Amino acid sequence: MEQHYEKFQRGYSPGKRYGRAWKRIRDRYVHKHPLCEQCLKEGRYVAVEEVHHIVPLAEGGSNDESNLMSLCRSCHEKIHHERGDR
Ligand SMILES: [Zn+2]
Ligand SMILES: [Zn+2]
Repeated sequence: MEQHYEKFQRGYSPGKRYGRAWKRIRDRYVHKHPLCEQCLKEGRYVAVEEVHHIVPLAEGGSNDESNLMSLCRSCHEKIHHERGDR
């Protein structure tokens, strides 16, 4: 069902690919994981700024919580940098 919805969203507007469903998922995830998970591993307590998809949607990832990560902006940028995005 999630997959189906994703396809629907994608066809419609590249700029709005996440839409309202994603906002709801993200809000719930942030509520459960209010701190950057990467910083937390290193013993730092930094508030979450972005919710990251471990496997990007474009590569078949889902909005499932098991595919999400709470990150601060700098950890998020670092992960994408290491992946070679941008
Ligand atoms: Zn961080
Ligand atoms: Zn990301």
